[in-house]
Amino acid sequence: MDLYKIKDNEPAWQSGMSKNITFIVTKDCQLACKYCYLVGKNVKERMSWETAKTFVDYVLEHEDEFREESVVWDFIGGEPFLEIELIDKICDYLKLRMFELNHHWFNSYRFSFSTNGINYHTSEVQSFIKKNREHISIGITIDGTEKKHDLNRVWKQPTADANGLTQPSERGSYKDVVKNIPLWLSQFPDAGTKVTISSADIPYIKESVLHLYSLGIHQVNINVVFEDVWQEGDDARFEEQLMELADAIIDGGWYQDYACSFFSEHIGKSLDPERDNQNWCGAGRMLSVDAAGNLYPCTRFAQYSLRSKKALIIGNIKDGINENLLRPFLTLDRITQSPQKCLDCEVASGCAWCQGENYDAAQTNTIYERSTAICLMHKARVRANNYYWNKLYRKLELEGRREEFEKNERDVKPEIC
Ligand code: SF4
Ligand code: SF4
Repeated sequence: MDLYKIKDNEPAWQSGMSKNITFIVTKDCQLACKYCYLVGKNVKERMSWETAKTFVDYVLEHEDEFREESVVWDFIGGEPFLEIELIDKICDYLKLRMFELNHHWFNSYRFSFSTNGINYHTSEVQSFIKKNREHISIGITIDGTEKKHDLNRVWKQPTADANGLTQPSERGSYKDVVKNIPLWLSQFPDAGTKVTISSADIPYIKESVLHLYSLGIHQVNINVVFEDVWQEGDDARFEEQLMELADAIIDGGWYQDYACSFFSEHIGKSLDPERDNQNWCGAGRMLSVDAAGNLYPCTRFAQYSLRSKKALIIGNIKDGINENLLRPFLTLDRITQSPQKCLDCEVASGCAWCQGENYDAAQTNTIYERSTAICLMHKARVRANNYYWNKLYRKLELEGRREEFEKNERDVKPEIC
């Protein structure tokens, strides 16, 4: 590994220049994670080949409506690899049709997966990876130590409830996932993992990040949930954990080769409304399709992602996108949806939001009401982040290496979702 190879969050492939198109191939998963925002996971809604094909035909035959330079074909669930046979067929068809149509995406596409990792080693998944090796990104979700992972990431009960909804069991999934990490890293050495933190996970943050580093995972993308789950005092506990983590990363020299997205030089500054008014979230510029053939601005607006609101559908595979329903998403920016306290906030940069959660948490059926449930957590993160960079730069100055460090640093801005 190069010294300073990873200094801040890695940008995603063709970030900002690609269209993200998501197939919700199944709403089933082997697990029933306790924090999962997918409240309506079920064993019934699996995408058919006819639905997938009709959708692909619609998108590729309307090239004028999809002018982005590149495309990320994203497959999610539930657990996408439960439907590896269908995915393989869809990807073969996509390649064939992009070629036949001389589509501008033929030379600039990726297949992307976020998986729980349980089926990763199977011959079906492995032969799919071999076939598409140059065009794949795969992230396996592992939450940290066995204790932390198994706190939330549990197997589902063998049978669904009367409505077909899956229920959590007591059986953790850490061992079933960790056994596939070496194979995954041998195939995707620069891959990162996603970790989600809610209230009960706070005491385990430091040991979990260090554990993931020790498994050989160089990029740990970690974030707190957007939902309003926080208890009194969580922000102080969070700050303390992050400062301990900062000490461990800097004193242990991990910062040279490993990254944790909690620490970024680009967060915690005030934002100029004239210049920094972009929407954090990509809803509307993305497109998702589910098993029923309905289209969404992001998967977060499908019914299985929503606790208290109705699905927000913007079209279907037969009639295409209804521009009138899509338009509100394209007008969203920071100012139009933020309360005054956020516009005046001195640490606003990096304080994220999720349009789907905003919609779900809002008093009315609006997407223009930003949820600020993470407010105290973001402020705690900013304080710990300042501690991290002050400590790191002090150390580098003492060692006479600050200049070398800054020269090698890439200017990576926080990404929008
Ligand atoms: S939610 Fe809180 S921390 Fe985030 S921008 Fe608004 S006021 Fe600032
Ligand atoms: S922030 Fe939420 S709504 Fe926006 S693109 Fe991401 S998941 Fe979708």
